[in-house]
Amino acid sequence: MVLKNIKYALKNIPKKRVTRLCPEVETPLSDRFRGLQILDKSKCIGCGICANTCPNSAIKIVKAPIFRGSDKKRWFPQIDIGHCLFCGLCIDQCPKGALSSGKEYSKGVVKWTHKDLLMTPCKLAREVDIQEGDER
Ligand code: SF4
Ligand code: SF4
Repeated sequence: MVLKNIKYALKNIPKKRVTRLCPEVETPLSDRFRGLQILDKSKCIGCGICANTCPNSAIKIVKAPIFRGSDKKRWFPQIDIGHCLFCGLCIDQCPKGALSSGKEYSKGVVKWTHKDLLMTPCKLAREVDIQEGDER
């Protein structure tokens, strides 16, 4: 049995690797991959269609600065990715094309606590590092 295993291992050494280190080596993603949503605040009109469309009620429309550090606020979507199933309906239904799919699937979106999975408009707009706790 041992010899058989060694023989099998030796036979496979020259072959191309079929596994990779995770999370060190990221998986190549297809163009249509649906990761963490990206919000374009300049296009969003705060209509709430995305929130009404979401099958998991993961979106809430909240007031947030129109850009990072601004005192002026408008309504934008906030997504609880702890409930998001990345179906993409919010993106498809947005009448202004303000939402799109990002490529993040591990770094920044894997958290220890549920509250950290709340993606504020500033995080969705990538105005702050999505790993940061502070939304401003
Ligand atoms: S992201 Fe689109 S659907 Fe959602 S509130 Fe903004 S404009 Fe409306
Ligand atoms: S991708 Fe689907 S589940 Fe996630 S927030 Fe959008 S509509 Fe809701």
